[in-house]
Amino acid sequence: MTGEQARKPLLLTNVKPMAFGAETPGSAVDILIDGNGRIAQVGPQLSVSHEMICVDGKGAWISPGWVDLHVHIWHGGTDISVRPSECGAERGVTTLVDAGSAGEANFHGFREYIIDTARERIKAFLNLGSIGLVACNRVAELRDIRDIDLDRILECYAENSEHIVGIKVRASHVITGSWGATPVKLGKKISKILKVPMMVHVGEPPALYDEVLEILGPGDVITHCFNGKAGSSIMEDEDLFDLAQRCAGEGIRLDIGHGGASFSFKVAEAAIKRGLLPFSISTDLHGHSMNFPVWDLATTMSKLLCVGMPFDKVVAAVTHAPASVIKLSMENRLAVGQRADFTVFDLVDSDVEATDSNGDVSVLMKLFEPRYAVIGSEAIAASRYIPRARRLVRHSHGYSYR
Ligand SMILES: [Zn+2]
Repeated sequence: MTGEQARKPLLLTNVKPMAFGAETPGSAVDILIDGNGRIAQVGPQLSVSHEMICVDGKGAWISPGWVDLHVHIWHGGTDISVRPSECGAERGVTTLVDAGSAGEANFHGFREYIIDTARERIKAFLNLGSIGLVACNRVAELRDIRDIDLDRILECYAENSEHIVGIKVRASHVITGSWGATPVKLGKKISKILKVPMMVHVGEPPALYDEVLEILGPGDVITHCFNGKAGSSIMEDEDLFDLAQRCAGEGIRLDIGHGGASFSFKVAEAAIKRGLLPFSISTDLHGHSMNFPVWDLATTMSKLLCVGMPFDKVVAAVTHAPASVIKLSMENRLAVGQRADFTVFDLVDSDVEATDSNGDVSVLMKLFEPRYAVIGSEAIAASRYIPRARRLVRHSHGYSYR
């Protein structure tokens, strides 16, 4: 985050708190944030003075700042990443977790040019492969053992332990060829040495989703949990569904990681109907998923609401749940003296048509609309991403729309 400067105090008026735990006020309040970004007063109808900046919440919800546990924001260092500003505060998200865009060979650049300059809080899963997603999928980061340098990973973590929250492994033959589950086992070994969680991308086998679950332990994260890919969907194999449900009960975190190819309405709806909810909701936003079909975190939350996840659980899945993965405290977030970190949002009636990664379309009857990201004493106006017209692009395998 950028350096602190004393600013004018900020008075947020008429906001309805939710997800602040037992201390959540039962009705709308005003919140005064001092010039150093700390909460000075919370209560009904606080008095206004002329040196304050006043923002009228108009009865909107306010929650702890939203956390997106899976984005790609090493812009300029990889060919796939977007800028933090494109998926952060302006979309109502105050914390972004990059999921393995940088490896040990280029993490220093990610820290200097992205983490240190963004206004959002940025954390990262370090890619197990040295090069990270420099030329995502065109030059895969985990082709064989020569792509992993255990000593340098340990060194990189030692130098960046305040930024790195875990190890990321993409376990899919698109990346690893026929290498199977070995990279996941190596990633698990390193994450055990470092005492951090591992996030594993499941997709085209090998490795099988089933094998990955057997390697992971409590606190680890499966991203793309509700993908609809052949051989990797939890709804096409009862044994896999039972295993996923048991592992989720034992503390393995199922993360959405929507992305261009990894979220299915049908899988999510069937799983939720059977009582298997995702632990966290994340976007897997990058340059090939933002314009279509993901858009942003608010729309992804609306998609989960649409397939039956309750409103309060959706909000917990972008606040308390991902915060626990990155060890970000959610205690007393509305207490006087705490640094302000909030998202102000509405839930509105809608008839927006949204598409999943399999091309299935649903009408979202309710839509999360972010209004402000509050970071310290700054209230940044937020809104959903408005997609550009899609265009036909040529790539190595043919043509597709983006
Ligand atoms: Zn990703």
